[in-house]
Amino acid sequence: MPKHSPSTLNPRSPLVLDTRDLPRRPGALRTVKRVAPAPADLGVELIGVPEGADLDLDLRLESVSEGVLVSGTISGPVRGECGRCLRQINDSVVVNIQELYAYENSTTDDTTDEDEVGRMQGDLIDLEPALRDAVVLTLPTNPLCREDCPGLCPECGVHWDDLPVDHSHQQIDPRWAGLSQLNRTEE
Ligand SMILES: [Zn+2]
Ligand SMILES: [Zn+2]
Repeated sequence: MPKHSPSTLNPRSPLVLDTRDLPRRPGALRTVKRVAPAPADLGVELIGVPEGADLDLDLRLESVSEGVLVSGTISGPVRGECGRCLRQINDSVVVNIQELYAYENSTTDDTTDEDEVGRMQGDLIDLEPALRDAVVLTLPTNPLCREDCPGLCPECGVHWDDLPVDHSHQQIDPRWAGLSQLNRTEE
């Protein structure tokens, strides 16, 4: 069974890095700065990078003996919903990338699993899986519009920010019920 599936990467795809001009000599360096549109579904359930939004890639590609080490940052806008009050969140995220992509048929390629170390496809590197992993790890699973968001009143669904401090749906304590009755008869 062939170990590698045939290359399906498009060298012109903005999240594919082409290393043809990076010498395969350990220590050789190249930087990649570009803006790429975010792929679909980049994020977690309540928050993520909108599809097509600008991702700023600021990466360093370094030849190592067995492949190419990609490191740097990718940043972009995120949009989501507060887990407590459902208000829209507009924020940004910066993820750090540090990933080794092994040359095809290198010792690293032969001795590691696909999920341990990335793989090059010829001269191409598919950055998307590492980007997805990094974004998912960085984004909060329970995003908040602000750290101390009080959320919504469970009874009426109004944001606590918009309610008076003494807002309450509590029934009148039975011990006081008689008293209010009394007040009424006095009127
Ligand atoms: Zn909130
Ligand atoms: Zn209420």
